[in-house]
Amino acid sequence: MKVALVTGASRGIGKACAVRLAKDGYTVVINYSRSDDEAKKVLEQIVSAGGDGMIYKADVSDLAQVKQMVRDVDKKYGQIDVLVNNAGIVKDNFLLMLDMGDLDKCMDLNVKGYFYCAQQVGLKMFRKKKGVIINMSSVSGELALAGQSVYSATKGAVNSLTRVLAKEMGTKGIRVNAVAPGFIETEMIDALPQEKKEEYLNTIPLHRFGKAEEVAAIVSMLASDEFSYITGQVITMDGGISL
Ligand code: NAP
Repeated sequence: MKVALVTGASRGIGKACAVRLAKDGYTVVINYSRSDDEAKKVLEQIVSAGGDGMIYKADVSDLAQVKQMVRDVDKKYGQIDVLVNNAGIVKDNFLLMLDMGDLDKCMDLNVKGYFYCAQQVGLKMFRKKKGVIINMSSVSGELALAGQSVYSATKGAVNSLTRVLAKEMGTKGIRVNAVAPGFIETEMIDALPQEKKEEYLNTIPLHRFGKAEEVAAIVSMLASDEFSYITGQVITMDGGISL
């Protein structure tokens, strides 16, 4: 048995990762913080396709809740082979109009939450001398989009964290990589006005938005033992975007 914990897996990219990893044979822990019904549906989808797993409600920006979640999962399954640090939020605004409460919310979830889960799960992986951590970054970690100072800073931090953890954990048999998607078809993109969508599409040579399943395919690849010599990488998948 192999176990994967995916944070923020009740919808969007996290859901696609959970479904894909279940298809790959992992027992999947579907973490989420609010959307009970959506999380249950993800588990139902996995189970009806012959997979296995559980849902776990925990706010990963809260260290105590992360500790409890990792303890409970470890108690139930005795191992966590793959962690996908995925739960994240966007609070776009120009710096001069930025609500500093939004800065805190983004830092707490997109950065501290990744630290908390990587540390707590990392301690379990260290015990087994084996494991894979995959951090969900974004092209915004490298590219500059006006209005995204907070989001970009959090994803830049994720990229740095990934590279440093790969060095710290490599000798313990743990690989750490990140995926940096461009625009992915999720509720966030659906909500954009048509002109904005066209504007973004014109910056993408493939002239389409990516799919959550395409992000999940890279996560599946990075989790796989077949790619066991890849660590410390930020893999970009953005249709060739230039902003
Ligand atoms: P999404 O559709 O908004 O889903 C976010 C998920 O995170 C939900 O399952 C949500 O569940 C969960 N979540 C939110 N706050 C949480 C918390 N405090 N603790 C635990 N779970 C929490 O997001 P998405 O678009 O799929 O994005 C997922 C990741 O990919 C993010 O890190 C994002 O930055 C990155 N990304 C997205 C895109 C894109 O175009 N969509 C592009 C590049 C990178 P609840 O509702 O239950 O809280």
